[in-house]
Amino acid sequence: MEFKSRFPIFTEHPDLVYLDNAATTQRAGHVIDSLNQFHRAENATIHRGVYDLSAKASQRYESVREKVAEFIGAENPDSIAFTSGTTASINVVARSFVHAKLKPGDNIVITIMEHHANFVPWQVLCKEKDCELRVVPLKNEGTLNLTAYRQFIDSKTRLVALIHVSNVLGIVNPIEEMIHLAHIKEVPVLIDAAQSAALYDLDANKLNYDFLAFSAHKLFGPFGTGVLYSSPKYIDDIQPYNLGGGIITSVSYKDVTFQSYPRNLDAGTPNVSGVLGLGAAIDFLNEFDRDEMRKYVNGLADSCRGQLESIDGVEVFVKAGEHSGIVSFYMEDIHPHDIASYLNGDSIAVRAGLHCAQPLHEYLGVPSTIRVSFSIYNIDNDVEMLIDSIKSLRKVWEL
Ligand code: PMP
Repeated sequence: MEFKSRFPIFTEHPDLVYLDNAATTQRAGHVIDSLNQFHRAENATIHRGVYDLSAKASQRYESVREKVAEFIGAENPDSIAFTSGTTASINVVARSFVHAKLKPGDNIVITIMEHHANFVPWQVLCKEKDCELRVVPLKNEGTLNLTAYRQFIDSKTRLVALIHVSNVLGIVNPIEEMIHLAHIKEVPVLIDAAQSAALYDLDANKLNYDFLAFSAHKLFGPFGTGVLYSSPKYIDDIQPYNLGGGIITSVSYKDVTFQSYPRNLDAGTPNVSGVLGLGAAIDFLNEFDRDEMRKYVNGLADSCRGQLESIDGVEVFVKAGEHSGIVSFYMEDIHPHDIASYLNGDSIAVRAGLHCAQPLHEYLGVPSTIRVSFSIYNIDNDVEMLIDSIKSLRKVWEL
């Protein structure tokens, strides 16, 4: 499959070796065209007007709900809410669902692999409500400690919030099994699918998660748009915390009543173009076989991991478990920012730092890492360029 020509950024920057896909993917030409078309010829807000443009925008906006539902195998399009991204979706679950259920002494279970987006909302909520945040550690080889996970879930657990694919280690967590274990104790599970939504099967019936969060910008779509799936079992318990127009059924001096989920989360003017862009991104993804794309991307990452490991002084995190297209490493003698700057000199874009996962870095005992993350438009030559550049960096540093 030849994907590069479908992404205009590579026409603008033919030399770019873009290896920061875990931060954001590039936009598919199809998505850019669809956004242009909307802004040039179809722009109107939704649910407000009876005139043609608004009616058409409303109809298209709702059709994306159906498209997203189909994309994750959810039966009911009304289980899909639109947000500004994974972070916002997780905060909705924290504030609109879990907040009301927490009593002092309760607990929430997360893992040490979580991105801050799935760590801090729970940490702050637990502090506020005098509850315990239980953080599942890793085993020595780097995969999640499922024995600890089992022990952490008890009658006082109100939610399990799990990252599917680690944005640092690239590890793919066994969420099907973990969801099952939580459900045995009747605990709802939120899956942070920010890193997996593009290429992994997230079938709602098979995996049986209760909440699922992901962002359009990591699946070739626009910024500022996200998805929250909520199980029909819980949607009546989701009360809006972001209040304003567009979510009301009636308001008087004395009282207010709200629409039901998912429309009770749409306060203010929704990000109509973002949602339509998400729809275009899903149309683009649906053109291809996801299993093939995933195998291809993971193959590039495996090759990269193997070659990095063979370079003296490079420590790759971590080698055990099932891996996705993300590889992180550390070089004892060179600061990650110096490595990223050097690679930038060769037009290679990687990420250096904590990747919004500071607790994980503390746990690994490294100040920061370099993260290389692949997508469908990367090619073998990108891996070679990266490896050559790191080898030449070692020579420049006289290591
Ligand atoms: N979770 C994970 C695993 C992520 O990688 C990210 C993005 N780096 C987020 C959550 C947050 O996503 P967003 O910034 O789109 O809200």
